[in-house]
Amino acid sequence: MYSFLKIQTKDLIVEKSTQYSSVKTLKKLKRQRKRKYLLCVLAAVAVSVGFMLSPLSKHPNSTTLLNHTNDIELGNFPIVEPTIKYGYVTDTLHVSEDVIQPNQFLADILLKHQVSYKTIDEIATHSKEIFDVTKLRAGKPYAIIGQDSLQAPDVFIYEPSVFRYVVYNLKNPSDIQIIEREVETKVKTASGIVETSLWNTMVDNGLSYELTSLMEDALAWSIDFHHIARGDKFKLIYDQQYIEGEPVGVGEVYAAYYKNFDNEYYAIYFENEKHQGFYDLEGRPMKKAFLKSPVRFSRISSSYNKRRFHPVLKRVKAHLGTDYAAPTGTPILAVADGVVTKRSRTRGNGKFVKIKHDESIQTQYLHMSRFQSGVRVGTHVKQGQVIGYVGQTGLATGPHVCFRFWKNGKQVNHLKENLPPPEPMPEEDLPRYYHERDLMVNRLNVIEYNTTSLKKAEDKIAKDTTASNITAVEVQK
Ligand SMILES: [Zn+2]
Repeated sequence: MYSFLKIQTKDLIVEKSTQYSSVKTLKKLKRQRKRKYLLCVLAAVAVSVGFMLSPLSKHPNSTTLLNHTNDIELGNFPIVEPTIKYGYVTDTLHVSEDVIQPNQFLADILLKHQVSYKTIDEIATHSKEIFDVTKLRAGKPYAIIGQDSLQAPDVFIYEPSVFRYVVYNLKNPSDIQIIEREVETKVKTASGIVETSLWNTMVDNGLSYELTSLMEDALAWSIDFHHIARGDKFKLIYDQQYIEGEPVGVGEVYAAYYKNFDNEYYAIYFENEKHQGFYDLEGRPMKKAFLKSPVRFSRISSSYNKRRFHPVLKRVKAHLGTDYAAPTGTPILAVADGVVTKRSRTRGNGKFVKIKHDESIQTQYLHMSRFQSGVRVGTHVKQGQVIGYVGQTGLATGPHVCFRFWKNGKQVNHLKENLPPPEPMPEEDLPRYYHERDLMVNRLNVIEYNTTSLKKAEDKIAKDTTASNITAVEVQK
């Protein structure tokens, strides 16, 4: 039946290389793989034979001529595309993969694989200038690749991030290379209609935490993300990054649109020699002197209120701050540039930081679980810089940050304050900005809303209703 597939592999030139030390060669290999696949079966068999015969090559891209004069029956060979990992064709090699365990050192890993202590020591010394082996972190993947399990392996590979990996040559300890993976970017759009929370909507629509965070960055000065409502709508234009076809991260956000009730907000990214950042439709910077809140993804658990019943003291006591509930350890951000004037602990406030922003305004952040290291009295902090972490030190019933805004020595409700507007973009830059703005606004306008999150919410309600009907029927029996 397969007789027509009878082929001769004589004169067929295949690449022998089993080691590809750069992304370029990897890419080249991919192209070759595709080509080979089109030529198909023929090459596949030759390639697999080639790999079976070739040792772990020290010379990438060397070519060799396979001299098989025998006829090969294709039906006898499983046709598989070679598996490539870290630039190695791993099908015929011995590969052990794992993640670094807490308190595990390079020696703990390699001694088990017949690598001598001398070699490990040499690698540790050489690694200092390239990628220090003391920087291996728990939870990060590694691989050990060799000919077979009986001999000492050839390389140790550590992956500090999806974007790069480090190859330690165990046969030549001074040969350590950091390989950057090739990142492809594609301009993508995203959208949604808020059903329960912005976070749930993003997740249900298949969007990442990173993108949610970047959208907040673009709009944080205009929209109070603690007061978003059901029915709010958003659209985004951004760069999605890919490595080998897999989405790995988000690059630039070019434009964001947000609709809250009847208010529409546009944030358009613009960059020239003098300016860089997000601007509104009139060319005013989105970035204001003060962030709307000191924590992300939190909710207001108690507002500024002059007559609040205190949950711990059990009596009416003015609450002169705004409480943002968030899990312990959530970073607390300085809402504006300033200088730290207090870093202290009291019975009521717990651990707190106070920052002076200008002659009239100071902000204070209470109940921290811990301070950010390096933040002391006198430290200059930037807007958005982490100054501490959410906790419940002092008088607190749960983890939150009590945010206090001082104006001319009095505590005021920061959400009601009209804070100084930013300097607008100079007039001479506006025509160029308007041009880019119009391109982005036109692109935003044609994005249709993704309603996946709405459908999921409806399905859930339907399911819950069915479940309660069933219970009702059972009760009637
Ligand atoms: Zn409070």
